[in-house]
Formats: sequence, C-alpha cells, structure tokens
Amino acid sequence: MRLRFPSKSPVYAHSIPDGAVARYAAASAGIIPDTESLLALDPPLLRSLSKEFKVESLAARMCPVEFEDGTAAVFALAEHVASDHADELARQLIRAGYRSATPARYVVNASLLLAVGRDAFRSDVATDAAVGRGALAEAFHELVEWGVRHHASDLHLNVNLHEPESEVKYTLFGRYVAPECFRRMPTRMLMEMLAVAWMDISGGNGAVFDPNAEQQGSLSRCYAGRDVMLRWASMASEKGPCVCLRILEKNRAAGIPPLESLGYPPQQVQMLEQALSSGGGAVVFAGTVGSGKSTTLASLMARLPEHRKVVTIEDPVEYTIPGAIQNSISRRLDVDAHAAFATKLRALKRSAMSDVLLGEVRDRETGLAFMDLAGSGVNVYTTVHAPSVSFIPERLASEFVGVSRDFLAIPGTLKLLVWQALLPKLCHCALPIQHAIKHDASLGHLRSAVETLYAVPTEALRVRNEDGCEHCRRQGLPELFGYDGRSVASEMIHPKLHPGFPEWARQGGRGEFPPPLRSAMDGAMDAALRGIFDPRDIEQRFHSFETEARLRALPQRP
Ligand SMILES: [Zn+2]
Repeated sequence: MRLRFPSKSPVYAHSIPDGAVARYAAASAGIIPDTESLLALDPPLLRSLSKEFKVESLAARMCPVEFEDGTAAVFALAEHVASDHADELARQLIRAGYRSATPARYVVNASLLLAVGRDAFRSDVATDAAVGRGALAEAFHELVEWGVRHHASDLHLNVNLHEPESEVKYTLFGRYVAPECFRRMPTRMLMEMLAVAWMDISGGNGAVFDPNAEQQGSLSRCYAGRDVMLRWASMASEKGPCVCLRILEKNRAAGIPPLESLGYPPQQVQMLEQALSSGGGAVVFAGTVGSGKSTTLASLMARLPEHRKVVTIEDPVEYTIPGAIQNSISRRLDVDAHAAFATKLRALKRSAMSDVLLGEVRDRETGLAFMDLAGSGVNVYTTVHAPSVSFIPERLASEFVGVSRDFLAIPGTLKLLVWQALLPKLCHCALPIQHAIKHDASLGHLRSAVETLYAVPTEALRVRNEDGCEHCRRQGLPELFGYDGRSVASEMIHPKLHPGFPEWARQGGRGEFPPPLRSAMDGAMDAALRGIFDPRDIEQRFHSFETEARLRALPQRP
C-alpha cells in the first residue's frame, strides 16, 4: 500500500503570518495507523525535529518532523493533535522557516510516535546515544504513567524477537488488555527501552538487562502525582523476554474504602469485626494475585480502636492506616534484605504492640515470623496465595512456608480465614436478562440453570451491555464497556465454630472438612441475583453452573 497525500502547499506556509495559526480542526489531520503507512509516506519522512526544537520532553505526546522534500509537520496523539502545544509547535516550525506539509499534522499512535521521536526509522544516522537514552526512559515512564492513570495493576511488556512489533498489555480491573494507543510497539525500541529502564531498577539481580535471564527488582517514582513502586519481574520466554511490572501505589492518601463498599455483605462484615475485637490469633486473607487482599486488610485495620497499638511490615506500604506504625521492607533477593527483615522483626517484637500486619506469608522466613508472632499472643493479620479458603492451612503448612501443622491445630491460632476474589461489577447500563434473552438464546439456558440450581426468582438478573454507555465507555477500552469497577466475592471459615477444625488443620487441610461451606461462588450469585454481577462472569471466575450442580450432588462437598 502506498499512501498518497496531496502535494505540499507552499502558499499555506507563506500566507499565514507568524503567530496566526488558527484553531486547528483535528479532523483535517492525516492519520498514520501503523509502521507500514509511516514507511509508505510520500515524500518519505526524513527526521525528527524534537531535538532541534528542544521539545524532547513532549516526545510521548507529539513530535515535529521533517520530510525529505524539506516540508515539516507535527505528529501527535489524537488527543493532542489540536492542542495549544501542537498549535505552538506549528507556529515555531513556520517561524524557523519550514514550509508546512499537507496535511500539516498527523495523528500517530503512541508507540509509533515514540519511535519517530527517536529517529528509529532512520537508517542513515546512528541514533545519538545520549539523546536516545533520555527519550527511551521517558517512553518507558509514559507507559507506566498510562497504567497508573487507568488504575492498572500490572504492565506487561512482551517482546517478540521474531516479529518487528511486540506487545504492550496491562491488567486493568483484572483483565489482560492491549490498549489501542500502545499497539504495534516496535520490537527493537521496546528492547532498548527495557535496557534503559533496568538501569533505574534498584535491588535487581544483574547490572544490565539480560533478555535470557529471570530478573527481579523494584523502582519507586512519582507518576501522575502518586507515589508508586514498580516491581519488575522478567521471564526469558521462547519468543523473547517478557517483563511484568506490578504497579503498587504507596502510601495511598485517598481514604481507605470501608469493608461494605468493597462488596462484603453485612454478615461477613460482622464476622470480620468479631475477629477484630477478640484477642490473639491470626486473621488470614487469601486470594490470587490482584484480588484486592491488601485493600481489604487495610480497610480492616483502619477499624481497630485507638487503644490498640498497630505495627505493620509491608512490601511496600500501600495504604496509610490511621494510627498505625508502618514499615516498608523490600524483600529482595539479596542477603542484606534478609538481614533487614530479621532486624525489623526483632525490633517489632520489642515494641509492645497488640496488632501486627505482616504483609504476606510466602516463604520460610515469613512463615517463621508468622509462627513467632501468632504464637506470642498478639493479633496477626496477613495474606497468603491460595485458591480457596479451605486451602489456607495447606498453604501455610506447605514445604515453601513451613508453618507447623501442630501449631495450626492449636485452638485460637487461626481466628478467621477469608478468601476473596474481585469480580467485574455491572454498570448501570446493564441489560435485564429477560430483555437480553430476546437477542441471545443462550441466556435462556443460563437462566434456567440458575433457577434450577438456586431455586430463586431470577427476574433481577442482569447481563453486561457490551456497547456500554457514556459512563462506562469513558474507560476507553471495549473490554471494559458495560462494567463499573469491581466488587468482592468471598468465603470465610470461623475455626472456633467448627469443633473438627483443629484436627483438619493438623492434617494440613487435607481430608474432609466437616461444615458445609457457603462458598464465594454462592456469595457472588447472591449479588448477581440483585443485578450486581453478570452470571457469566461468575461462571468464568469459578466454574459453570452445570459443574456446580454436579458438585452439589456429591455426598461431601470439597
Ligand atoms: Zn455503562
């Protein structure tokens, strides 16, 4: 494909007096959707003028360029193409004697723009390393900032060395998505960007970014006015390095959301409050990565009365808990970090606290700390990774963590076990199921499955409106249309209420657990029957209603 644009118009450039570039109509800008179209421009693109006009700091939003025939244009992101900045840049080009190209501005996506800004498409000149590095670091931070602004939990940079373009994805509200603006990221540039970004990583293993090694480290920086810690974890895959950056907002100033607003139903809030008011023992939260455990924990701790002394050890401190003495301990791979953790723990034990938040129990070191603290009679609050609430004892007793089974079986050691997941909450534009059934016959089947299984009226069930409305479309990603944030679905075990619990815990959570458990799936269905969740999202998160029916038919539920 060879794109043809009208020939240049010197008249335009000379007839407009300096400073008189009228309000630019975004619709008159050209569009360069991909690398192919960029390379097909006629006349061809010559170079970036970012450096010459000292606008490298704008490189992620716009970039002045020169074509081979000596004309110049402004390349910009769609939302910046008609901005005051772009107007000013256009004036400066004319002032510097450049003739204006036609069109005089182009809409370019973010990845292409960054590549153009660094002259990545110029084969004749070696990129000036110093300039290149700054722009690359900026490009990297721009990717992170986009994630922070959109409340992403992770940024994924998946390099495909076999292809000219690689993947930039985010985890947004639990979904793994590729925003349009970062599609088609040139592979070469992404590799260079990772090499530059790694230089700012602290506590990492390896002096340089190594695409063939698994590397970990962290970086703290302010993005979009928020204090953020990035946790870098790379994996050397078959196609190339995949870097996953966990975005952790530190010292969140915004109020900690109350348990009720997270989606905990009143009877569960009551169980959590009872756990807070009883002395000694551990409250353990489980869930998968990104299930909002730390938010719930912060919300719970914030309810502790003032007469309790609360100390935390976190990696890093995510929420500012009123009245608590909080400690960030980065548990990196090096020896120093282990020593620092041990020292902090000793100091903590001498601090005469009544309540301890131990960010996560994930290895032998934290497992020992857990036993040490929970065994000393203080109230411990912590998190583990586990697939359901009944797996918590097994996880704690596992080889990796090494908490003794006998210890878990001591009555009162485990005070409350909670497992939670986050499900996408339907936007107010969701469709009543009886309406949606008319266009999608499979929903009729779903509805009757729910009716049979739960024996409840289903007229309040709603399903996602994929077209979205003005409110949910604002998120900008079609995958999120029809949703409005997320809400908790949870299950709990209150060990004291079950006489068989100590023996079961001694078995490391193996064998039959006596009480029939009100599962997180049941909880989610309660919410769905009030129109909060799409039942299809519940099936996707847990299992199909058919499987649930079969499980219920078994003599003893797992
Ligand atoms: Zn909506």
